[in-house]
Amino acid sequence: MKYIATRNSSNAISGTQAIVKGLSQEGGLFVPQTFPQVTKEEIIELCELSYNERASKIISKFLPELSGELGEYCQKAYSLFDGDPAPLVKTDENKYMLELWHGPTHAFKDIALTLLPHLMVGSKKDIGVDTKTLILVATSGDTGKAALEGFKNVDGTACLVLYPNDGVSNLQKLQMQTTTGDNVKVVAINGNFDDAQTAVKQIFQNDDVKKELSESGIELSSANSINWGRLVPQIVYYFSSYCDLLSSQEIDFGDKINFCVPTGNFGNILAGYYAYRMGLPVNKFICASNRNNVLTDFITNGTYTSSREFFKTSSPSMDILISSNLERLIFELSSRDDKLTAERMEQLKNSGTYSISEGELASLKELFYGGYVEEEKVSDTIDYEFEEYGYITDPHTSVALSVYDDYINETDDMTKTVIISTASPYKFVDDVLKSIGSEPQKTEHKSLLKLQEETALPVPSSLLELPKMEKLHTDVIEKTQAKEYILNYIKK
Ligand SMILES: *Cc1c(COP(=O)(O)O)cnc(C)c1O
Repeated sequence: MKYIATRNSSNAISGTQAIVKGLSQEGGLFVPQTFPQVTKEEIIELCELSYNERASKIISKFLPELSGELGEYCQKAYSLFDGDPAPLVKTDENKYMLELWHGPTHAFKDIALTLLPHLMVGSKKDIGVDTKTLILVATSGDTGKAALEGFKNVDGTACLVLYPNDGVSNLQKLQMQTTTGDNVKVVAINGNFDDAQTAVKQIFQNDDVKKELSESGIELSSANSINWGRLVPQIVYYFSSYCDLLSSQEIDFGDKINFCVPTGNFGNILAGYYAYRMGLPVNKFICASNRNNVLTDFITNGTYTSSREFFKTSSPSMDILISSNLERLIFELSSRDDKLTAERMEQLKNSGTYSISEGELASLKELFYGGYVEEEKVSDTIDYEFEEYGYITDPHTSVALSVYDDYINETDDMTKTVIISTASPYKFVDDVLKSIGSEPQKTEHKSLLKLQEETALPVPSSLLELPKMEKLHTDVIEKTQAKEYILNYIKK
């Protein structure tokens, strides 16, 4: 099993190398050279297994080098969850919520980031690297905390997180600022997520920085979904939800289903696409966006335009104009043309836009549907779902529910649909309270208890304790200072 890069497919490397490197030399992303297949018999076998066993089986196909350790890694990672890491809840005919937020930081990023530190340590061992790994993370809120929790106190690693100062929820910020551990650092940057992500990408490609790092015995890697090790654990829950639908006799074997995914950086939905390429029966991927609807436009007309107005919304983890993982899909659509992919990414960087061909657009549309929602409807949908089904969702998941509604109205598609539920409503407690006609309280603590009183969904104790914890990370920098800041951090 080898991996190639989207902007240069001539050098094949192992999956463990891809995880240690994070990003390829040319700035491209690593992708598997071929997609391992999952047969009908294997899917039936998966149905008999627990989530962590399913994970171990699927991930072994991509990382055979680690197949001896994966059972233990998955067991360790998923024991940090409160029960099943990916329970499926039926709320209506044809509609199922895949709740991926029962992990330590209460967002779906935990599915990958509880496992990534193990994959990183195992990968370094596999390729015989014993330098220190600095994990650089740009976050729109949830990745940061999940990465910090995953990597804190992991030997041979350090983790530095950059987040947009005004672009995350209060609880998300508190979660990051209060992180303990002697190998972690968090800094706010005056800018939006794309600024943070661009700063991180530039550091990866900066030869001076790399030289300075390697002189200090440090290698850079990433915990963003540009890292293969972040994506591969996310493929698992697409298979797992299909198994759960089979086991509960909601579908028959071979039935196609839809997935509706609240999307930002395109990592989650891309993992679903990879599951499809491995043989999972999928009818449509519904790509749900908020007002930052760059992906809706792309799926509609084949032109990606990141140079446009940026909106701050109630679903901050999707406030993204440069969806990094789309590069991996573009690579597939172009029949894996690395030169063309590199050209398009260069165009995007220089002029903020690129287009795909008519033929590519047609095959994109066969499998993907794109839609977006305005802010008011996000809040209305939270209220409606709560009134109608007694089911409370966070704003990101509400974006998906709302786009799914539009999809049904437009297509009358009766296919059973799994809605990916990406965060606990408590992470966005004030917006959720307002949506259901209640009121945010004077303190975060009181708001959390208020939402519990309104909904009877138990509030996670780790969130309740946050306001009492000491803020250890309060640095704020300009985006132009990112490189200097990172270099200073390394020297300490
Ligand atoms: C990260 C995130 C998303 C978007 O996922 P991508 O993989 O970036 O598309 C959606 N919802 C929540 C709560 C998130 O944290």
